[in-house]
Amino acid sequence: MPLIAMLDDERIDASQYTPDAWAKLRSSGEAKQMVMPLCGIRAIAKTRGTTHFFAHHRVTDCKVDHGGESPQHLAMKSALRDRIDAVDGWHAFVEYPHPSREWIVDVLAESDDGRRQVAFEVQLSSQTPERYQERTQRYFEGQVFPVWVIPRRLEYNRVEIPMVVTGFGKSSEVPENTADLMCLTVTSHFDDDVTLGAFVERVLWNRAGWSHGSPFDQITRHRKAEERVERERQEAELRRRQLDARIEETNRNSAAPEAAFGAFTVHTDGGPFVWATLTACWKCEHPMLLWNASSTRASDQFTSAPRLEVKRDVGSKRYENHPDVHRALNGWIRETGADVEKANIKMRRSKMKGTEYSAFICPSCDEIMGQMFVSCIRPEKWSLISAPLLKNTRAAEASRKPRDADPRRGKPQKQRPPIEPIEPRVRAYYGRPTVPEELQTDRKKTWAELHSPEGVAEARRKFIGTRK
Ligand SMILES: [Zn+2]
Ligand SMILES: [Zn+2]
Repeated sequence: MPLIAMLDDERIDASQYTPDAWAKLRSSGEAKQMVMPLCGIRAIAKTRGTTHFFAHHRVTDCKVDHGGESPQHLAMKSALRDRIDAVDGWHAFVEYPHPSREWIVDVLAESDDGRRQVAFEVQLSSQTPERYQERTQRYFEGQVFPVWVIPRRLEYNRVEIPMVVTGFGKSSEVPENTADLMCLTVTSHFDDDVTLGAFVERVLWNRAGWSHGSPFDQITRHRKAEERVERERQEAELRRRQLDARIEETNRNSAAPEAAFGAFTVHTDGGPFVWATLTACWKCEHPMLLWNASSTRASDQFTSAPRLEVKRDVGSKRYENHPDVHRALNGWIRETGADVEKANIKMRRSKMKGTEYSAFICPSCDEIMGQMFVSCIRPEKWSLISAPLLKNTRAAEASRKPRDADPRRGKPQKQRPPIEPIEPRVRAYYGRPTVPEELQTDRKKTWAELHSPEGVAEARRKFIGTRK
């Protein structure tokens, strides 16, 4: 039920007419000259109960959005107008044509100095989120702050719209005195549990703390955030693929020492388990021996070698640098005649963790062989090159030696072997692959294949091929 009609460019406000004046207007000759704003269709002055309003003569010809037509809509517009007019320094236009000439603003509040405008849109029927955003955007672009006066909360949308929820809808009872609508308790985009009247005042006093910007600003911001997340995801994916490629390259450049120099394990009494791999520096391709060691105690009795678990985390001290381990390595190199350098071990900063640890270092270019990459060298690329005597071997050896038994004891006293760790005392095979079967989880070739002349030649070629 529009309140405004135009007569010779003058706004005629139906709500300002007494019943007598209204009746006079309807019967006057001017009545036929009145048109609806914007669309220009002839306006008919009408009365329903005590309410005066205008209607289109032929509404089907109208392309303009005049807003809601219900008594509730009309009452809310009147109440807003009256409240705005009561605020110092402000005045209201009810049903004011939007500059785009596409719709009628329900109530436009304007500061008396003309510098600020707030549009109140009474939206009692549903409207798509896109429509809310589009109109809100148009207002922002026209430097008008819009407020949607709506009966219920909108469904969640991440584009925020300035709104106030009144609970007053199309089927609500219209109060006799429309000013009562300003006493409704409302929730809004910036404050809860205030009256609609107080909310209107706050908006006009510029305390409507709107921080989201226009819908377009928000959509742009969301898109940029999504693009940033996507970019970061792609960068992480690229880093992961580069890492995988380097791990793969490390593996391609690594070979089991037994494949290059023949299977051979230095046996010590109570010495460490040492596994070694032949690899090439990722930077200068210099070949070197890397190793992983675990300590044993003299009292330990092993029936098989433990599972190879290459350390991923290494501290400032590492067992690989223990003299016992170096002795085992030197022994293996001497016995096999392997012409390969051991990697150095020095304190270096881990790029991944940012902490210092004692790392394998290329003996040629002094570059770090990151422990993470070392730990990713697959089990079949490692050989057990030093181990303590296994139980069976130890028993067999003990039976060959003259017993130094104490007659007062039931059992022969256990002999501590003399400490002479420089020379490997026993040279023996386990009679099975040096790399235990259970370690060869993702191997492609059988042990026999690896040790066939072709297998050995291939391993040598791969290994030697990395040398400059
Ligand atoms: Zn119209
Ligand atoms: Zn190097």
